[in-house]
Amino acid sequence: MLPLKWGLKGNGRMKRIAIGLGLLAGLVAGAVAVVWFVPSVQDALVKRGMVQALSKAANVSFMRDKALHILLCGTGSPMPDLTRAGGCAAVIAGGRVVVIDAGPGSWAKLAAAGVPGASIDTVLLTHLHSDHIGDLGELATQSWLGGRKVPLNVYGPPAPQPSERVSDAEGDVLGAAGTEEAVKGFAEAYNADADFRIAQGHDLVPTEAARMIGHDIARPGAEEAVTVYDQDGLKIQAFLVNHDPVEPAYGYRIDYGGRAAVVSGDTKKVANMVRFSRGADVLVHEALNPDMVEMLASALDQTGNKRAGTMARQVIAYHTTPVEVAEIAKEAGVPHLVMTHMVPPLRNALMRRMFMRGVAAARGAGDTVLGYDGLLISLPAGSKAFTTKRLF
Ligand SMILES: [Zn+2]
Ligand SMILES: [Zn+2]
Repeated sequence: MLPLKWGLKGNGRMKRIAIGLGLLAGLVAGAVAVVWFVPSVQDALVKRGMVQALSKAANVSFMRDKALHILLCGTGSPMPDLTRAGGCAAVIAGGRVVVIDAGPGSWAKLAAAGVPGASIDTVLLTHLHSDHIGDLGELATQSWLGGRKVPLNVYGPPAPQPSERVSDAEGDVLGAAGTEEAVKGFAEAYNADADFRIAQGHDLVPTEAARMIGHDIARPGAEEAVTVYDQDGLKIQAFLVNHDPVEPAYGYRIDYGGRAAVVSGDTKKVANMVRFSRGADVLVHEALNPDMVEMLASALDQTGNKRAGTMARQVIAYHTTPVEVAEIAKEAGVPHLVMTHMVPPLRNALMRRMFMRGVAAARGAGDTVLGYDGLLISLPAGSKAFTTKRLF
């Protein structure tokens, strides 16, 4: 049994702790009340937060360092996914930014990552599906308002050759536009917006830069690559992939500072992906899990939406499975693999785990990352380093 004085001493300590905690709770409650009810304190706090956020965004190191960066600004597909924008990957090197695809919602992701709109003057399209071009108007407008001084140049596939054009049920050949024509349509749709903004702040926004200009990239030979961008050591080449009946569709190989990355675009498994990924440090490849899409299609059938179920099954034919993506990376000897354009939408950790079934076994050596919006991949020039960072 403890002597009496020890018991008293213990009680006194507990009391002091209780009083201390009470005082602390009072102080916290008081501070919260001040913030919640005093407008001048609110103003000061919010203003300080704005300055901090803007100076952080104005000083992102990836715009200044000597590395090839690939920022995933959209890793979703046409299937709605609140956590993933449509297809988008920004190439950032030596202060230059080239955006590959501008899927719906991708501008917001670029802005959240701190990519300055003024630095975006070139967009490369892999193909003209809506989930890769839906934010083109927004990207053009926001980069212009952000200070871009030249028109936005958009490069992408030409119209399909007449023999490659798709037909409708009656066998009539359907017309299809190439990038030049599609971008002309976007530009026309955004003309009124540009006029309103010029009227409002004509001395702040250069009129000429409001335009966006589409260019068709001449179709390369079956096993060839064509250079589409070559500025200050940043070189980007387009090569053919197979997203039939979307024809032609391109993948891109990016080289800078002795480092290289490949962005697949949408495609089924093709030899060109292995061919042009050889010697690259990272392959960013689309992936569709057919078993999971079949589950989704059955769920659609069961819930009375057979039409959507059939459409979901059709999608399986022109994409690459995660295991095939791993095989491509292994065959090409690419040390780092990042999956993107995940189909179906992966809503939780269990679905992400299922999506990757069989990948580790097929991959062999080398790592695999399931991509997400805001993932920054960095390849410092003249080294073998590879780092990834979540920007938001
Ligand atoms: Zn797509
Ligand atoms: Zn597509």
